[in-house]
Formats: sequence, structure tokens, C-alpha cells
Amino acid sequence: METLSRIEIIRGDITTLEADAIVNAANESLLGGGGVDGAIHRAAGPELLVECRTLGGCRTGDAKITAGYHLPAAHVIHTVGPVWRGGNEGEDELLARCYRSSLEVALQNGLLTIAFPAISTGVYGFPADRAASIAVGTVVSFLRETQSITRVIFCCFSDESAELHRGALENAGRPG
Ligand code: ADP
Repeated sequence: METLSRIEIIRGDITTLEADAIVNAANESLLGGGGVDGAIHRAAGPELLVECRTLGGCRTGDAKITAGYHLPAAHVIHTVGPVWRGGNEGEDELLARCYRSSLEVALQNGLLTIAFPAISTGVYGFPADRAASIAVGTVVSFLRETQSITRVIFCCFSDESAELHRGALENAGRPG
């Protein structure tokens, strides 16, 4: 299936999605936090924290998988985005690695559908426009290399965020 038609951009709450996996913008402890991390733990129930405690944390840019427990999604892929420190500390590459690592974990586990929040753009302070083009660009490149993932959803929490992702997807679709 054509790459761009496997990508969907929606505005919504990622904890309500029925994907094979939703991605959590976690912190290195994997023991829960605010923002989307807190929302995912609340919706999944306390069993999620019990499993997360067995994982030994996660480094920035890496990703680890758990079950989804009470979520409609079957799994949660936890990744840790970079904290924005002005842009010269490898933030762009680390953010791209979050998307790649999460997709690799999905592939390794035979998952077909995966939903992402806008990693690092909340408390971690990554500029939303720059993050959207990295997110979309990284996912498009990955999907060009593999047919097995059938759907990637960017689940944006605001209209502005959804617009930024739509713009980035239009750019990605242009030739050249
Ligand atoms: P980070 O620490 O990686 O910046 P945050 O959770 O603070 O993570 O924010 C990441 C993004 O997730 C932000 O754009 C925020 O608006 C968004 N967000 C927060 N709650 C949800 C949710 N329930 N569903 C989808 N996105 C969410």
C-alpha cells in the first residue's frame, strides 16, 4: 500500500484509540509522569505500572513495549523523547530515534497499527513545528522501507498540532 495513505492525522485523546499499540511519551524512569504519560497510566490501570517497574527504565530515544491492560489498545510502546535544550544537543536526532525505535519495536512484535502523540512537545519543550516535521519525515521514511505496518496515526492533542502535522505530511508528499 502506498506510503502516505497509511498515515492518518487526527485530533484526539490517544488513550481512546484501538490501535495495536499506542506510543507513550514517557520519561527515563518509565514510572509514570504528567501529560500523556499520566493519562495513559490512568486509563490503563495500575497493572501498567507493575509491568513498567520490571523494565529497568528506558534511555532517551529508545523504546520498550508493555501490554495495554484496560486501554482499548493492545500494547503500549514507551519511548523517551529529548528535553529541548536549544537545539544543539542532538535533540532532532534523538526525537527521530524515538519514532524509529517505536516502529522497530512494533515490527518486532508483529503489530500492524500504531498511534503516536507529539513526543517531547509538552513539558519537554520541543518546538511543535520542528517536532511535527521530524515526526512525519521519520515515519514516512520508515514506511517507505516496510510494507508490514499498515497504519500510523498521529494523535494530536490540539487543532494547531494537527495542522502542523498535516503541513508536514503535505511537504513529505511533494516530489524531490
Ligand atoms: P513530553 O514530556 O514528551 O513533552 P507531554 O505528555 O508533556 O510529553 O506532551 C507530549 C504531547 O502530548 C503534547 O503535545 C501534549 O499536548 C500531548 N498530550 C497530552 N495528553 C494527551 C492525550 N491524552 N492524548 C494525546 N496527546 C496528549
